[in-house]
Amino acid sequence: MENLIIELVIFIIGICIGSFLNVLIYRIPKGENIAFPPSHCPKCNAKLKPWHNIPIISYILLKGKCAYCREKISIRYPIVEILTGILAVLVYKKMGIDIYSTITFFIFALFLTLSMIDFDYKAVPDSLNLLALTLSFFNSPNILDNFTNALILMGGMSLIRYYVSFFIKREAMGEGDIIFAGSMGALLGIKLSLMSLFIASFIAIFPSIYNRISKKEFELPFIPFLAIATFIVWYFNDYFLNLWSKLYE
Ligand SMILES: [Zn+2]
Repeated sequence: MENLIIELVIFIIGICIGSFLNVLIYRIPKGENIAFPPSHCPKCNAKLKPWHNIPIISYILLKGKCAYCREKISIRYPIVEILTGILAVLVYKKMGIDIYSTITFFIFALFLTLSMIDFDYKAVPDSLNLLALTLSFFNSPNILDNFTNALILMGGMSLIRYYVSFFIKREAMGEGDIIFAGSMGALLGIKLSLMSLFIASFIAIFPSIYNRISKKEFELPFIPFLAIATFIVWYFNDYFLNLWSKLYE
């Protein structure tokens, strides 16, 4: 019972942080200040009252519409809030509460933010990407190992990029993907990162096929797939390490 209350509190804190992530997702790519002006409707510019700004609850009470001009509010806002709440609880279940679990939570929260921005713009801001990378060096007490693993993954990704770009005669992967791979390396280590890359590529096949069939030429962002794969492999690390040893030892 006591644990359930702790999880509920962590879920609510996560939702509030998710609300802030929405601000980052919306404002950073546009080069806007993240603190000023205060929350307003993007359509009619009306300043939101505090009770219009309660995560999830306001969305439900306002039936997903602006209180002033009735413009539809994207369902993505409450989805990002709920996902961040779930993320906070899962990190807590996996690691408990300490400085390292807090850092790890913020890395994954940044991954979620970067994924959403990559969806919209097919590019991610270096500011948030480098912040995630820097935090990732400190996701466990083995800072030197984390740093080394980040460098190896970034080097490996750069190498793949050179080869692929050479053969397809155009730039493969963005620099953003390489920085992101560094954070993944620091979080997962080499073995799990390789599995994560494999899973990310595997998941990305399905939308690519859909792309082909529907003949809709939308450019596919890669960071959302890397982010999902990194989280799955991180959360089930025991299972994947076990799988690795069965395959290679
Ligand atoms: Zn409005």
